[in-house]
Amino acid sequence: MNKLQRHTARWLAALTAIVVALVPIAALAQTQIKLHSNKYSPADDVKLGRQAAAEAEQQFPLLRDAEVNAYVERVGQRLVAAIPPEFQHPEFRYYFKVLNASDINAFALPGGPMYVNRGMIQAARTEGEMAGVMAHELSHVALRHGTAQATKAQKYALGAGIAGILGTILAGPTVGQLAQLPVGAYFLKFSREYETEADLLGARIMANAGYDPRDLANMFRTIQAQGGGGGGFLSDHPSPKDRYARINQEAQYLRVNTAMRTDNREFRGIQERLNGYPRAQTMAEIARSGRRYPNQGDQYPNQYPNGDRTGYPTPTGRVDYPSSRYRTYNEGSFTVAVPDNWREINEQGEVWFAPNGAYGSAASGQTVFTHAVNFGITQSRYRNLQQATNDFVSGLQRNNGNLRSASGYQRMDVDGRAGLLLTLDNVNEATGRAEVVNVVTTQLQNGQLFYMIAVSPRSDYGSYQNVFLTILRSVQLNG
Ligand SMILES: [Zn+2]
Repeated sequence: MNKLQRHTARWLAALTAIVVALVPIAALAQTQIKLHSNKYSPADDVKLGRQAAAEAEQQFPLLRDAEVNAYVERVGQRLVAAIPPEFQHPEFRYYFKVLNASDINAFALPGGPMYVNRGMIQAARTEGEMAGVMAHELSHVALRHGTAQATKAQKYALGAGIAGILGTILAGPTVGQLAQLPVGAYFLKFSREYETEADLLGARIMANAGYDPRDLANMFRTIQAQGGGGGGFLSDHPSPKDRYARINQEAQYLRVNTAMRTDNREFRGIQERLNGYPRAQTMAEIARSGRRYPNQGDQYPNQYPNGDRTGYPTPTGRVDYPSSRYRTYNEGSFTVAVPDNWREINEQGEVWFAPNGAYGSAASGQTVFTHAVNFGITQSRYRNLQQATNDFVSGLQRNNGNLRSASGYQRMDVDGRAGLLLTLDNVNEATGRAEVVNVVTTQLQNGQLFYMIAVSPRSDYGSYQNVFLTILRSVQLNG
């Protein structure tokens, strides 16, 4: 190697080093976001948000449609799971409810409660656009903008102590302001800086969750095309042109988690359902009417069974008795009939059927059921049904420390095939009540394990046992 070659080699080595270094530099081109100074604790956020949520739910009607609610909750939890770790707060409990209001809007309260307007879901062109608005709102919560703003305001407040500011946040909007302003406006009127941060973090959350971050920007155009949405997301969030460009610029630096991509089929089904309802009022119309909705918490899973433990909505466990009329669902690889007052809920590749009041979110963010059946198909290492079932049940127990076998295996017929039944005891994660879990398995022709899991509180097991048996007998396997 001569001198020139050596020189070239050194130069190439240096160039390679630069190129390698450029990769992290490109990643750094994402705008950095930091938490603002905040004299409140995350627990204060939770407390404030919970009180504001209770007030909001008395002022505005919740949409009574468990299927729509479960869908929005699922999209919401998917976004929550995509919040970058540095902005996750273990105290926060995110949950999502749908308001029966026509404005194209959504709002989130400190500590995690989020309210998504029916009008916003109907206006969005894709699930991604709907998720964009939710991701933006979620970012205000994760960045603790409500209490950061109160911290800032307090510097200028006249002699207001912490109690005074808490009082302003709690009492201020509840009676006077909220009646005239759109609810949540108190927490929603953020500075332009905060709005930009919520857009940027929202875009990151979108990408992490498998959505195109540009859908958040696209939603601005969708709203404008529909006449601006009158008093909606855009009027709370000024300067949509700049925001559109800013989000699209940021999107260049974000890698979309394509493994999580979804199509819009379920979204369209939800929109169709919503289009079938009579027109909703705007939030301003609702506020002007002065109507109150005092009992909403009773009718929708929103109980705090262990007192004030965490503030997440949990199943009430108060459910209607199973209807004697059954409805058949075709799940592709099998069909099954369930009482027609039960809902179909798709959770992480499994399907659940449960009545209203029998499901909700647990502290873990997962959906928890009190009275339900669950079906799924899983790959097994074992060809022998009992070994495959053992292995499957061990997996359930690893995820659920309270789950204990209460019986040996019993033979069970599943659509004419050899099956096994195992009964287990459990303690429900959300209600803390003792429950009985029946696991029934059989094998498909390709060797996969088909399972049904039936859950009910121990005290209700006597009356649900026959329902579970009827459901099991209705199963028809295709494969
Ligand atoms: Zn905002």
